[in-house]
Amino acid sequence: PLVLGIETSCDETGVGLVRGETLLFDAIASSVDEHARFGGVVPEVASRAHLEAMVPTIERACREAGVTLRDVDAVAVTSGPGLAGALMVGVASAKALALALGVPLHGVNHLASHVAVDIVEHGPLPEPTLAMLVSGGHSSLLLVPDVTHDVRSLGSTIDDAAGEAFDKVARVLGLPFPGGPHIDRAAREGSVTIDFPRGLTTGRDMERHRFDFSFSGLKTAVARWVQAKEAAGEAVPLADVAASFQEAVTDVLTRKAILACREHGVGHLQIGGGVAANSRLRAMAQERCDAAGIELRVPRPGLCTDNGAMVAALGAQMVLKGRPPSNLAIPADSSMPVTQVSA
Ligand code: ATP
Ligand code: MG
Ligand code: FE
Repeated sequence: PLVLGIETSCDETGVGLVRGETLLFDAIASSVDEHARFGGVVPEVASRAHLEAMVPTIERACREAGVTLRDVDAVAVTSGPGLAGALMVGVASAKALALALGVPLHGVNHLASHVAVDIVEHGPLPEPTLAMLVSGGHSSLLLVPDVTHDVRSLGSTIDDAAGEAFDKVARVLGLPFPGGPHIDRAAREGSVTIDFPRGLTTGRDMERHRFDFSFSGLKTAVARWVQAKEAAGEAVPLADVAASFQEAVTDVLTRKAILACREHGVGHLQIGGGVAANSRLRAMAQERCDAAGIELRVPRPGLCTDNGAMVAALGAQMVLKGRPPSNLAIPADSSMPVTQVSA
């Protein structure tokens, strides 16, 4: 089946076209530049940008993929979670398209889509797969029996998401929003010279929060360290701070992900979400998975951050596995739980 996927949960208007398990084209329009000066995504600005970008992005995706809308067999859309107004633009567009074309609509979870996109990159996901979702708003370890069924969350962040920590630390270091890619780049010029805290990895914390994460203490530790340097009138070694912070995040993430694989007898780890684009996380996960005999699957960086291909990829799985389509009355669900795959 040819599935058109629409993503508008945050600031990227994404339209992807997937045929079965093959990505035909992924078109993205981002309003990130309009938000940068506010240091975060402004919901009203994002919704308006989605409205303006929607039709041109759909047209570009079809043109580049060499298909027409009449060829589309199903429409998939992010129904949640995300910014309510932004989601509404995508959901309304998808409903209109499904109705006009007379094809089924699949409202899917943005977070499950971050996992499902790996299928168009590396083929069918082994069942079960342990997925580590690390993005701007979430950080969870998920046991995925099959991407079209509800997942089981083994643990998640108890405070900030991993991407949020990257963005906040970037702000402390005076780097632009969104900070993840800037920290990644800065860290390449530095060395791991500072031993920042690894939250929830020892003693009773580890017992009580075996597969949970905490990044807010780490962010505070970095801010304090930088303030102390500044107060002493010393130069802040930006690249070393970035490298040391990044090392702490990736150490905790990879350690807990591999432990979860071991304890649940799962031989495959998939990493998805914007933070999965991080070069150090990818390298460390590969080293540690190789050592543990676990197969690692991470999509190319451009498919880790928000895009329409991920939504089309999950939609195509819903069609291939014969899952019932969504009702045309589905709402945009800004707080859709991470465990719920479809609407
Ligand atoms: P969610 O998926 O939880 O709804 P989101 O859609 O806003 O959140 P994504 O687009 O999946 O998030 O990821 C964006 C996050 O990924 C931002 O916090 C950004 O800083 C981070 N990120 C992007 N590239 C990198 C990188 N190379 N290194 C670290 N973090 C990165
Ligand atoms: Mg974004
Ligand atoms: Fe996302």
